[in-house]
Amino acid sequence: MAGVFCLLYLWFAIFPGQAAPETFQYFSAKQVSAGRDYQRLPRIISILGFVLQIGVLIWFVFGKGKDGIGSGARNHMVYAVLLWLVLRLTSLPVQYFRGYYWQKKWGFLTQSLFAWWKDYFLEAGIELVLFTAGLLILYFVIGHWSKTWWVIIAGLFSLWLLIQTYLWPVIVAPLFNEFTPVHNPAITEMVEELAERAGIEVDEVLVMDAGRRTTKANAYFTGLGRTKRIVLYDTLLQNYPPEQVKAVVAHEMGHWKLGHITKGVGLGILGSFILWWLAGIMLSRTIPFGFRYGPEVMGMVVLFLILSSFISSPLQNGISRYMEREADRFAVILTEDVQSSVDLQVNISRKNLSDLAPAPFIEWFGYSHPSAVKRIEQMRENY
Ligand SMILES: [Zn+2]
Repeated sequence: MAGVFCLLYLWFAIFPGQAAPETFQYFSAKQVSAGRDYQRLPRIISILGFVLQIGVLIWFVFGKGKDGIGSGARNHMVYAVLLWLVLRLTSLPVQYFRGYYWQKKWGFLTQSLFAWWKDYFLEAGIELVLFTAGLLILYFVIGHWSKTWWVIIAGLFSLWLLIQTYLWPVIVAPLFNEFTPVHNPAITEMVEELAERAGIEVDEVLVMDAGRRTTKANAYFTGLGRTKRIVLYDTLLQNYPPEQVKAVVAHEMGHWKLGHITKGVGLGILGSFILWWLAGIMLSRTIPFGFRYGPEVMGMVVLFLILSSFISSPLQNGISRYMEREADRFAVILTEDVQSSVDLQVNISRKNLSDLAPAPFIEWFGYSHPSAVKRIEQMRENY
């Protein structure tokens, strides 16, 4: 199934087909082809990178790698670190290409190569600690509760999802960026007025120094309970007119008011129980009952997780696109200003070089937000 998805994705990345006629109501043919030129190669490279990663992982878990490096690591801790290294090294070419080379080539990156590697190693270090700890817990639980292990792991995983959503904005995000409360009185006033109309208590609107890495603009809503916050990129405040910034803030308030983070975590917990239940079936069918298994069981589970998360991306993205549409609708009704929301979409997708006419399969499979034209048409329909 993953193979079929890869082939379809490659096909539609290379041959996206004609752009729908309504695209040209908002964008010129030149803009459409610029977006496509910018997106095509990273898509192809990502899929090839994914295939490479799965191939090497299969080699490491089941093939010659198991007899060579894999079985040399009878120690489960060493095995977990080696597994992490396999994943890291096989994804490095794609990460370097997408994150550094391509961004630099198109003039979006404002970072030096040194600063890029610094980010890379910081992130890799955090991942190494969490990944190894997670795998060792998994190995321990499988070893002690060979039948019910998946329930315990799903429970722990759900707990981790909650903790991570709560703590990520206050612990991890500040390691990479500086977050400061909005100082501009015009924006503070706008935020207060919108929050009052929306009937929500917005206590944290922060500006992130995104400009140290990119010229692209964005915003997001994150956190749980007391760590809930709206984050605006400094590039948004600098390069977009106030009424478009207002449209962004209203959209993020939509996520807030409609409880999207809580719903996302809830769905994540549900998904985690389904996923680990399937992992339980997978293991019990792969490894004969009563057989005493070695560390390679961790490799099997990781391979299973990567493949299932790839296969389920249409579902995950479908849910995300649904929530984005809800937040768009909310923003338009709250601001009573469809035009600014439309202008924002046009402006931001031009500047960020979005694909303005993605092939339907690519959007269905990989888009967390609807494509620009769909968003615009929906906003105009809704008001
Ligand atoms: Zn959104």
